[in-house]
Amino acid sequence: MAEQYDYDLFVIGAGSGGVRASRIAASHGAKVAVAEEFRIGGTCVIRGCVPKKLLVYGSHFAHELHDAAGYGWTIEGAKFDWGALRDFVASDVDRLEKAYTSTLDNNKVDHFHERAVVSGPNTVRLSSGREINAHYILIAVGAWPVMPAIEGAQHCITSNEVFHLPELPRRLVVQGAGYIALEFAGIFNALGCDVTVVNRSDKILRGYDDDLTSRLLPIMQARGISFRFNNPLQRVEKLADGSLLVHTAEGEPLPADVVLVATGRRAKTDGLGLESAGITLGTNGEIPVDPFSKTACESIYAVGDVTDRVQLTPVAIREGHAFADTVFGGNPRSTAYDAIPSAVFTQPPLAAVGMTEAEARAALGEIKVFTSDFRPMKNMFSATAERGYYKLVVEAKTDKVIGVHMIGPEAPEILQVAAIAVKAGLTKADFDATMALHPSMAEELVLMR
Ligand code: NDP
Repeated sequence: MAEQYDYDLFVIGAGSGGVRASRIAASHGAKVAVAEEFRIGGTCVIRGCVPKKLLVYGSHFAHELHDAAGYGWTIEGAKFDWGALRDFVASDVDRLEKAYTSTLDNNKVDHFHERAVVSGPNTVRLSSGREINAHYILIAVGAWPVMPAIEGAQHCITSNEVFHLPELPRRLVVQGAGYIALEFAGIFNALGCDVTVVNRSDKILRGYDDDLTSRLLPIMQARGISFRFNNPLQRVEKLADGSLLVHTAEGEPLPADVVLVATGRRAKTDGLGLESAGITLGTNGEIPVDPFSKTACESIYAVGDVTDRVQLTPVAIREGHAFADTVFGGNPRSTAYDAIPSAVFTQPPLAAVGMTEAEARAALGEIKVFTSDFRPMKNMFSATAERGYYKLVVEAKTDKVIGVHMIGPEAPEILQVAAIAVKAGLTKADFDATMALHPSMAEELVLMR
């Protein structure tokens, strides 16, 4: 590329999308630099998917220890140490940050540990004041938790802070009923905290199939999580003893030690200087892009949560990879957004790919729905009566399976494989023709008639 620039590519944000784009662009021969104001790895690695999943695993032992008695085990003196789990998780995050940093080094990507903002179509300004120019700029700064404007918001935490709690809260109030709210409600409930979820509507996990969410809710309640629906959080008061009092629209105030706010995430574009390159932000602060992730400015691209297309790590990685192949690899390609599998690591987890039953009915009219409502074998000797539930949504005209929806143990692990079938356009007849793997929960997928 032209020698007139300091770099062929300057990436702002070393999260999943930014690191993948940097590595692939460098492998195509580009001279690349990345700026990161916090830690290399981004939300997923540092304060999101990875540490969250480790906490989910840590909290599972509570159920496993409980169920162990049914299988003949006597476990005496079992104790839980929040500080130990928190610190193990933090050390794994450190390990992963080093691995991500090595990836950049091994691919000869320069990294600047400071904030960078756009100062023109081909220039960025570092917080040290240094200006750097680049043929292309990629914005991959991600999103940030939204803190609603409530009185006492300064007493609340978000998912950014929850991994560092000095001690396990005795009473936790969670605002919101989306992914983050319910995942952490499950974790802290299993770890023995008294958890109340407060939400403005009576809908949990909007976007997931109604049969899954209406199965999940009573299970979470039976496990001891309280819900206040249609009851917005209005004010958080700090008492003289340091504890909190949460005021909702109706009902008695809730005493709490920690209030976790999880009401969505917004593109982290404030003060990023995009107007200097003629880029106008969307209503949620997101950067509008074309299918190749190009912004309104020819030399500036954006990938991942900052574009608010689909806020999931694997999507950001695909977008970053496609960008690098398009611009530096001579292989223009966009990311396909059909059949994206997703999961919520509640307890039990749910997972889905493709259309929900309601979406399919609205879009296609004639569909067939197959369901399996079963008691997982693992729960047979357990005190819990929790049942699993799988649903296949099939297009009547073509027999194609266009949606798979699951709640039950290991649902995310099983669903990833089912997503291949949906992506490949396999039919219900293909599912039926597949021999069951017995005994397993996954076999339910090929036994629904
Ligand atoms: P979600 O969009 O999942 O849920 C937001 C919740 O907050 C909803 O219950 C919503 O209520 C409520 N809410 C929204 N705005 C307000 C407001 N102004 N006041 C009060 N309540 C409000 O957001 P999360 O923060 O949980 O997660 C953000 C994104 O992160 C997810 O969309 C997902 O893409 C990603 N993520 C993915 C995970 C995974 O893949 N397992 C895990 C964690 C995050 P209502 O529905 O009633 O409108």
